[in-house]
Amino acid sequence: MSLRLALALFLFPAVLTVGLQSILLPAQVPSQSVLGYADFSVEAQLEKKFLTVPDPKLAGEALKTLTAAPHLAATPEDRKTAEYVAEKFRAAGLETTIVPYRVLLNWPKVVRVEAYDEAGHLLMSGPAREHVQGDPGQDDPRVVMPFNGSSGSGDVTGEVVYANYGRLEDFNELAARHIDLHGKIVICRYGANFRGVKVYLAEQRGAIGVLLYSDPKDDGYDKGDVYPIGPWRPETGVQRGSVQYLFKYPGDPETPGVASTLDLPDSARIQNFTGPGGDQPGIISIPLSYHDAAPILQALKGPDVPQEWQGALPFRYHIGPGGVNVHLVSEQDYQRRIIWDVIGKIEGAQEPDAWVIVGNHRDAWVYGAVDPSSGTASMLEAVHGMGVLLHQGWRPRRTVVFCSWDAEEEGLIGSTEWVEQQGRVLDRAVAYFNVDAAVSGPAFSASAVPSLKEFVRGIARSVPSPLGGTVFERWRVSQPVANEHRGSNAQPIEDEEVHVGDLGSGSDYTAFLERTGVPATDIESTGPYGVYHSAFDNFAWYTQNADPRFLYLQEMARILGLEALRMADADVLPYDYVAYAREISAYIQAAKRKAADKGLSSLDFGLAEAAAARLTAAAQRDYAIETAPSGNLARLNLALRQTETALLTDAGLPDRPWYRHTIYAPGEFTGYSAVVIPGVNEAIDARNESLATQQLEVLTQALDRAAKALDTAR
Ligand SMILES: [Zn+2]
Repeated sequence: MSLRLALALFLFPAVLTVGLQSILLPAQVPSQSVLGYADFSVEAQLEKKFLTVPDPKLAGEALKTLTAAPHLAATPEDRKTAEYVAEKFRAAGLETTIVPYRVLLNWPKVVRVEAYDEAGHLLMSGPAREHVQGDPGQDDPRVVMPFNGSSGSGDVTGEVVYANYGRLEDFNELAARHIDLHGKIVICRYGANFRGVKVYLAEQRGAIGVLLYSDPKDDGYDKGDVYPIGPWRPETGVQRGSVQYLFKYPGDPETPGVASTLDLPDSARIQNFTGPGGDQPGIISIPLSYHDAAPILQALKGPDVPQEWQGALPFRYHIGPGGVNVHLVSEQDYQRRIIWDVIGKIEGAQEPDAWVIVGNHRDAWVYGAVDPSSGTASMLEAVHGMGVLLHQGWRPRRTVVFCSWDAEEEGLIGSTEWVEQQGRVLDRAVAYFNVDAAVSGPAFSASAVPSLKEFVRGIARSVPSPLGGTVFERWRVSQPVANEHRGSNAQPIEDEEVHVGDLGSGSDYTAFLERTGVPATDIESTGPYGVYHSAFDNFAWYTQNADPRFLYLQEMARILGLEALRMADADVLPYDYVAYAREISAYIQAAKRKAADKGLSSLDFGLAEAAAARLTAAAQRDYAIETAPSGNLARLNLALRQTETALLTDAGLPDRPWYRHTIYAPGEFTGYSAVVIPGVNEAIDARNESLATQQLEVLTQALDRAAKALDTAR
């Protein structure tokens, strides 16, 4: 999945002029003091060796192989990519298995959209096939017709209402104008939130169908030249994508909290997943290109749009209803289908039960050059680097596990089912390092739990950038732009050198962090990218626009590999709970101000504030030991690891018990971007004072558990 992409502006030109075959390393890896290491010098030599291995040419070859055919989850072509990745894992010396699950997936049989004017004349009939002059991949019969994962089936006709981005505030604006959506078909543009949220809000308000289209203002000609001239979305390019209600729960819709193993009996699968509490929409949704959306929007009458709702099509937009009727047909073939995760392990020499997990999905809507194959190609070169170290006799202190997930696009399914299958085993997992759409350009950015934000900055300081200097130095320059579309509702901490975003959802770290409490990070390197989830996210587009020499695949391989190495070998788990506690305190203060603004002045934040202060004090005491580790460190490591888990609440969040983390969750109305201290914030947003009081208590208890966990270190 990976959101972020569509709305960006970028500082950097996409064409790179670095003349070297690959990026040379700084002559000397500085043997700085590194959190978690009593003496970093041995590890510094190992890292130096590792950094020489990832090879842009090999990464480019892997990208070419992975993108040779469309490989939607559960297809024979997807199976072939699983075997290819497994073979690479084995060649590097990883103990490798292909792990299947049986999960509910829809494939489209019929998707049809027809629009008529008030006199009944046909205005458009589609969707039109994706087509640009000269693209090598578009005519392959295996390119799946544009559709939405988790869309309902049906045949409906209705008047149309334009709802801008389909955000909560957009639907509220329609309500304020007394525009009734019952029986209507809502048309929304992509961007600003997760597409499933658009459908969720439309369904709640009585709509019978949703059209999701890519406006040229957001990722088309208004941004710049379109493919095949430039990187932006061409007229017929369609963003496929899942409209699963991800903020309820991800994974197989039939098995929340349970792994969909091949032998799981039908009786263990739920049936009412389109009802309240389920994660599937009850209505149709269909994605469109702007070629197909334009005739509908142009014919639409009713009130003039607010200026911010005007897109870049060459006419004035109107809200509707009136002027046009639309007929939608969606026939979706829902079947339980087999998907394949590939899992490769390197057993740890000293702490085999403590796992460092690296993961990336492998399935794609079509060819998936950026999303996700650039991630897979990077991960394979990181694996290559580890393989060379293994060959030279190195063994990690902790176990390193590389994971190639399937069916991420349909709803984070492969990773969620695997996490659900591992259960308590993951209580000992020390980190999950995710990569998804790794490379669409040169601007590096990252998200992480606060305890790992400085860790990620440290890794970026140790890896050279194709643009010269280190990745960290480039990141500092590019960050105002790269950070535009990541993060959360939290204000950034002001004194930080480079902002690391917060983890919401939209990729495979979700089950690790928000269900199971495994500390996680997510990294990417972005640029102008207008072909997200279309047939044009292919090898030709990638080499023309994103990374012609594969130098950023090399960069991402180095970062990902270094994250795993440094975490796997550390004497002390390099978590910074002082930073975590500081962020939590800031979240509580922000929620307090919001509650006051909303007139919930009797809400008492005192106990939560006091608990955050206790957490800060405990974190400071531990941090002093972490910076000068000595003696038997097992107890300290266990305590540090248990702290994140202590932030989970067994009961889960209100109305969505699958999500258990009290500090981070995907927002009910944002989907991808995080809502921090979600139980408290969402209760305040809903002006539900008694729920907010109860959720403040849940938060207070979690913070006290975390402080207590930290205290057991001494
Ligand atoms: Zn993806």
